[in-house]
Amino acid sequence: MWGAVGRAGGSGLRSAAGGSPLPGGPLAGKVAVVTAGTQGIGLAVAAGLAGAGARVVLSSRRAPHVEAAVGQLRAQGLEVSGVVCHVGQPHSRQGLIQKAPETYGGIDILVSNAAVNPVLGPALDADEAAWEKIFQVNVTAAAMLIKLVVPHMEKRGGGAIVVVSSLAGYLPFPALGPYSVSKAALLGLVKALAPELRARRVRLNAVAPGLIQTRFSAAAGDAVGRGRGRDLPLLPRRRLRGGRDPGGGRGGPLPPIGTHRGPVGDP
Ligand code: NAP
Repeated sequence: MWGAVGRAGGSGLRSAAGGSPLPGGPLAGKVAVVTAGTQGIGLAVAAGLAGAGARVVLSSRRAPHVEAAVGQLRAQGLEVSGVVCHVGQPHSRQGLIQKAPETYGGIDILVSNAAVNPVLGPALDADEAAWEKIFQVNVTAAAMLIKLVVPHMEKRGGGAIVVVSSLAGYLPFPALGPYSVSKAALLGLVKALAPELRARRVRLNAVAPGLIQTRFSAAAGDAVGRGRGRDLPLLPRRRLRGGRDPGGGRGGPLPPIGTHRGPVGDP
């Protein structure tokens, strides 16, 4: 059940023949970097980008995850490479951002998707180390990756960056206080940086997914599944997606909900 999102075969951007990139797809010639791209939403994003014709460098902390994800997507005929990257570590971020130009000649797209949530429970119970870890990985790392990647995009005449926030950034989830604050901070980061980046021909947006069944969301998903979802007022059960495509491909468009918020940043 978990990881259904990560089955790259779910991308609605693939060619009808299977996983091969769409000939002349909308992202043909583009190079994309995806953090936390080996499972869940990140893997589906990597598959979607590659299916649309981009060459993709995906990454995460664990080498076996990187190897498995690259193998899975290459087996579908997609052009992907992998790098081990813990986004909380500066040298690791630098290694990732160097890899794409070395392998594919440049960078046009960054999807900053990595996040952690080491604590579950009342926000006041979280200690300083937990707050620091959450902000280092979820917020500071995104800002530093953007800083690293923009010069590469400028060399290509511009680029596009997507930061993965969460509905929790708009309405904090119970028991996920520090995580929710970090996702709100990401929305603020995008608002602050988007005008600067626009002047450099780089488009910056955030997306705020609802609940999608992945390893990451297992705790919240279990709560909803056991009928305790009233603690998550933005996420009625029908919104708990085991969907294979966060982009709305095979799974169809998300059902409308009154609390929908659009992306933050540049159009
Ligand atoms: P997931 O399926 O559990 O996958 C997590 C991925 O993150 C794995 O590839 C993991 O690989 C990688 N990772 C973890 N820590 C990392 C780090 N420090 N540096 C680099 N990679 C790291 O998670 P997911 O649910 O798809 O979540 C992805 C993003 O979507 C997160 O930003 C999350 O906040 C956001 N989001 C999720 C939901 C949801 O309902 N699932 C809703 C809203 C927003 P390794 O173990 O190999 O590092």
